[in-house]
Amino acid sequence: MTGALNENWKALACAHENPYHIRMDEADFYPEGALVTVLTAEPLDRTLDYKAPEGGVERGAFVEVPLGPRKVLGCVWGAGLGGFDLSKARRISAVLDVAPMRDEMRSFLEKVAAYTLTPMPAMLRLATRAPGLMNPPGMRKIYRRGTGLPPRETEARKRVLDTLDDYGGLSFTLKELADAADVTPSVIKGLLPSGAIVEEDTPRDLPYRRLDADAPGKELTEAQGEAAQALRAAVAAQAYSTTLLKGVTGSGKTEVYLEAVAECLKHGRQALVLLPEIALTSEFLTRFEDRFGARPAEWHSGVTMTERRRVWKMVGQGGAQVVIGARSALYLPFQNLGLIVVDEEHDGSYKQEDGVMYNARDMAVLRASLCSAAVVLASATPSLETWANVEAGKYKRLDLESRYGPAVMPDMQALDMRVDKLPATQFISERLANAVRMRMQKGEQSLLFLNRRGYAPVTICRACGFQIACDHCDARMVEHRFLKRLMCHQCGETKPMPEACPSCGVEGRLAPVGPGVERLAEEVAERFPEAKCAVLSSDLFASARALKEQIRLIAEGDTDIIIGTQLVAKGHNFPNLTLVGVIDADLGLQGSDLRAAERTFQLMRQVAGRAGRSEKKGIALLQTYQPEHPVIRAILAGDEEGFWRAEAAERKMAGVPPYGRMAGIILSGPDLAVVSDVANHLARSAMPLQRVGAQLFGPAPAPIARVRGRHRIRLLVKAEKGAPLQVALSDWVRQVKLPNNVRLQIDIDPQSFW
Ligand code: ADP
Ligand code: ZN
Repeated sequence: MTGALNENWKALACAHENPYHIRMDEADFYPEGALVTVLTAEPLDRTLDYKAPEGGVERGAFVEVPLGPRKVLGCVWGAGLGGFDLSKARRISAVLDVAPMRDEMRSFLEKVAAYTLTPMPAMLRLATRAPGLMNPPGMRKIYRRGTGLPPRETEARKRVLDTLDDYGGLSFTLKELADAADVTPSVIKGLLPSGAIVEEDTPRDLPYRRLDADAPGKELTEAQGEAAQALRAAVAAQAYSTTLLKGVTGSGKTEVYLEAVAECLKHGRQALVLLPEIALTSEFLTRFEDRFGARPAEWHSGVTMTERRRVWKMVGQGGAQVVIGARSALYLPFQNLGLIVVDEEHDGSYKQEDGVMYNARDMAVLRASLCSAAVVLASATPSLETWANVEAGKYKRLDLESRYGPAVMPDMQALDMRVDKLPATQFISERLANAVRMRMQKGEQSLLFLNRRGYAPVTICRACGFQIACDHCDARMVEHRFLKRLMCHQCGETKPMPEACPSCGVEGRLAPVGPGVERLAEEVAERFPEAKCAVLSSDLFASARALKEQIRLIAEGDTDIIIGTQLVAKGHNFPNLTLVGVIDADLGLQGSDLRAAERTFQLMRQVAGRAGRSEKKGIALLQTYQPEHPVIRAILAGDEEGFWRAEAAERKMAGVPPYGRMAGIILSGPDLAVVSDVANHLARSAMPLQRVGAQLFGPAPAPIARVRGRHRIRLLVKAEKGAPLQVALSDWVRQVKLPNNVRLQIDIDPQSFW
């Protein structure tokens, strides 16, 4: 086996007393009346025995079983375990009309469970996140765009038609369409007589339109052609491999990996393209449709419930050839998966931070290794993990050196803010302002980047110094002037901005400190009154549609100055944008996060990459108070390999990932004393950790010591790369009995340390 991660998995191959780990049976069919054991998604610590129904049942079949008074979803896991009065065994109530779980999927789920220390029921839940799997198949009414014209164009009617146009490939029930377009069902019904919308009876869950694998792609440049050839070969081998596809934004990575998708289709295998949720734009889908003649199946938070079930079923039956999805698409029941693309592989959102804490990029590599598939990790700014795997010879690497067409990487310069002495209420230096002015004169666009939502991160009382904090969290509240409220970015709680200081009662002395994008917009409006300005921040848009519309307007050149959070760092193509001004390049360098340098480096390069995507050369100006900081210097010099080598050397010295292993333990509960007791008890019984040479740090209050009224204490475990960490961890935590109310989460390979 190849692949760095797989070495870690080897360490836990001796799956110790996992109550769900039932050896895969010889038998793959159980005749009527035979005792079988069924894994459910219920939070139980074992599988449950049932009798096979009339007609028997296959291993892996999805079934409905009685549990107390309820019927729940389960999966036939093997021969019954017995050990109880067999006459009491109940019968499986129904075998679902969906493809049974394949052995390969089962072993994937078991390995993820073992790696992330997740109970199997939670894994099954993750693998069956499509509602209505237990409903019988049948007919239903769906609504789609017809050729007629609406009798009278109203706002609401227009929204319905726009929604259908936007999501052309998806099927909608009446309720889903009404919700998506934000109208009442009667508006939709009202459009039927004109034929602007047609109502159809269709079987539930139709297959997706076939994709044309032979349709020609764009003509590739030489470098693109070589990379595409290498990826095609990797896919054609029908064996596991992982390849890093590295190239600046705009170099044509997407174009190249679509060739790998085409190759995969030619072999009759399925492909999965993972994108960070935010990059799942209709722009991407249109591009895909242009290439393959039809839309792929989609799996993300914007997909309707009906559509979810359709995707899930069709993926399992081979009625969906390609899925474009967010991280959880990895747990879809693919029948014959031949390729996984992880686009923007460095993106932090691939790590799921609650529930099952897994990194979709790493688990994609695992999944591919189990089903002889190729993995493509695409990025302009790969993670250090991936870079290290390439260095170690575990992953292959392909480089696209330049941008497609005339576009070139922008020049980068630091603006040393120490010389400006800006007043505390101003955030744009004179030099940056001049650069913006020059762009406006030339009719070009500028982007001012600030990775902070809201108006001001802190509100302070000028009379007593009090800072307004969340009542439930150990966090300051962020003013959102647009919403006219204060908001906690930890728990989402909001409250109105008080007139008087909650602490000293003095009125009119509360003042904002520091900038958020809304405040920056205010400064821009004052200093460039004639400019057309747009703010791109996730919280300012009521819907994905509204955001998309804004992005389209900007791309068409309707805006002089764009103010954006990291929402703008990825994906969007603004051809007329030639200046990027980073308001606070130092922002990400603060804090103790081991990846702070790496993240800043990546983000700054991505943001800078927004400038000069067409013929016009761009420039990126970084406002900083520490221009001599090694990370800022590396960003300016554009010396990526140098940056990585230095960063790798530091992490090696410190024995941290990717050169060592880490796990975070977070204990939380409403009563601080109780949580502390558990933490101290754990710290005192660290024998199982010591046995494998792991070090324990903490307990210590988490950086955000209270969230939603729960106190949080963290412990950190560090071990050498080859250490069997998971076995040690579960032996360790098993020693303490958790009081009610105290929750223990284990985060393997933590990405964030809050
Ligand atoms: P990346 O994924 O690296 O950011 P893309 O694949 O999105 O790059 O390419 C950037 C832009 O250049 C896209 O608009 C794409 O259609 C265009 N492009 C890339 N390669 C070619 C090509 N060989 N022929 C025509 N257009 C191309
Ligand atoms: Zn809060």
